[in-house]
Amino acid sequence: MKRTLVDYYKEFLPLNSNTPQVTLGEGFTPLVKSNNFSKEFGCNIYFKLEGCNPTGSFKDRGMFLALAKAIENNKNKIICASTGNTSASAAAYGARYNLETIVIIPSGKIAVGKLLQAMVYGAKIISIKGNFDQALLAVKNIAESMDIEIVNSINPYRLEGQKTGAFEIVDSLGKSPDLQFMPVGNAGNISSYYKGYKEYKEKKISSEMPVFYGIQAEKSAPLVDGKVIQNPSTIATAIRIGNPASAELAKEAINKSKGEFLKVSDKEIINAQSLLANKEGIFCEPASAASFAGLIKKINSGLDVKNRIIVCILTGNGLKDPGNAEKYLSSKIIKTSPDPKSIQNAIYTGKSTNFFKRIF
Ligand SMILES: *Cc1c(COP(=O)(O)O)cnc(C)c1O
Repeated sequence: MKRTLVDYYKEFLPLNSNTPQVTLGEGFTPLVKSNNFSKEFGCNIYFKLEGCNPTGSFKDRGMFLALAKAIENNKNKIICASTGNTSASAAAYGARYNLETIVIIPSGKIAVGKLLQAMVYGAKIISIKGNFDQALLAVKNIAESMDIEIVNSINPYRLEGQKTGAFEIVDSLGKSPDLQFMPVGNAGNISSYYKGYKEYKEKKISSEMPVFYGIQAEKSAPLVDGKVIQNPSTIATAIRIGNPASAELAKEAINKSKGEFLKVSDKEIINAQSLLANKEGIFCEPASAASFAGLIKKINSGLDVKNRIIVCILTGNGLKDPGNAEKYLSSKIIKTSPDPKSIQNAIYTGKSTNFFKRIF
């Protein structure tokens, strides 16, 4: 019986007889067709729910392989810089396979859910005064001098594992999508998807590759602006990165597929997050909603999407960042006494606790 990503995609992964089996049940996430927006826009939109991975983000797809290779290479410690999800994932796998996990985070910029995960799984968490890019630089220096395995996406096995997202999409649609929208932070994931689609095409499992749209947040958009951003800022903390490590690979994905890097404002991100929740029943984190915000933006500026198959990668679960969502709720819980009359009255006159208002 096939159960793991390795069972399904072994021939595409860098494994050998010394690679241990490492898994927490990552991958095989739902590809859900949009119910309301496919109709509204006259195309076929699918959402890849990467928040359904074991620690709530796509990071698990690459982390299982990074850990397997670290163990194969006799490492007993792993380290990462993190905007949150990498640390949650690393800490979970580290706990399960008895590797000490060290996490370097930028102070005050981690969503509560993510930080709590890393703490509960038992990582050693070190907060620095500085942003993600500075944390990653620190990690590179320390890992080398202390012989600790880096499990950020500069670890090539992370990208190898994350390719499986592309395989699953092709396997599920029976072909590659026409367009793919996804958030871009450190640019590892877009590079992975590109590699995955390319390998499937080379093996003739699919005949085409999607056009890639890499979405960044307006004030954290080094790949759109064509320069390093010194002080990136956005509510979408997972893509709050000013100097993407995999910039070159990501540019290749965009250029070769004739796609585009695009930036969206925080307001557009929250709007998209709200639409996904209220119109599709999908609660993803702000960075993930950037992909859908990018699609809306392209449609509004005239991109012809008629009858096209479009995939938006929703990279992480909305429960990771409850504080941010709570801030934008439009109304409060209705309070009333328990008698039927009062409850009836509340049902007739009370307001739903909608999330933000539609702005497009
Ligand atoms: C890590 C992450 C991203 C960005 O992915 P990169 O590979 O750094 O470009 C986007 N969304 C979420 C939820 C993430 O955790």
